[in-house]
Amino acid sequence: MNTQITRQFHLYISKPTRKRTLLEQYRHWRAVKKPPYKHVVQIGDPVLRMVCKEIPRNEITSSKVQSLVQRLTNVMRRKGLTSLSAPQIGVPLRMFTAEQMDHHLKSIPQEEINKLGMAPFELKVLINPKLQIVDETLIEEGEMCYSVHNYHAVVKRHKAVQIDAFNAKGEPCKWFAQDWQARIAQHEFDHMDGVLFVDRMDSRTLTDSMWKMYNDQGKLYW
Ligand SMILES: [Zn+2]
Repeated sequence: MNTQITRQFHLYISKPTRKRTLLEQYRHWRAVKKPPYKHVVQIGDPVLRMVCKEIPRNEITSSKVQSLVQRLTNVMRRKGLTSLSAPQIGVPLRMFTAEQMDHHLKSIPQEEINKLGMAPFELKVLINPKLQIVDETLIEEGEMCYSVHNYHAVVKRHKAVQIDAFNAKGEPCKWFAQDWQARIAQHEFDHMDGVLFVDRMDSRTLTDSMWKMYNDQGKLYW
């Protein structure tokens, strides 16, 4: 271990915080300190490395599980994400949500949408998912995760998969996912077993999305 770096890190995390602004104070007061959180946990949090537990089928309609579904959906939408898993809001249970709204695609060039095979789809709540590979062809594409904030890298994923799960009503459901949807499904399914995209990436492609801005601004933001 590099002691100097460790010391610097220690100094960084232990330096006294400045007085909060009113807005920061309000956010602090509103923040949820116990899971399920209203924020998305970051890499290093042990919950992201846990093998998540199944939810007993007869508990899916319980108020506890239903409020988890609601929280997960709300956080996903509030952050403008296409998908989010329960461990990412601090709950190591086998559940994820996915939804591709029209407005998600508005900022993406049409060529990119066609190339990646992106298409809008309605909200899916997938509980106790099982994944089956339908087309083994491996596709290399850039991928990111809100729990590894600001970073992206190239990851190989199978072209088509099928997820068998239970929906929020506790009914069996299927998701045949190909192209971009298959990538989403495999990424979120990995979260069920404590696997992150950084475990599967081509490490030489790992990129800080802000790298160019640091050069343009001539400084780092810490
Ligand atoms: Zn993720």
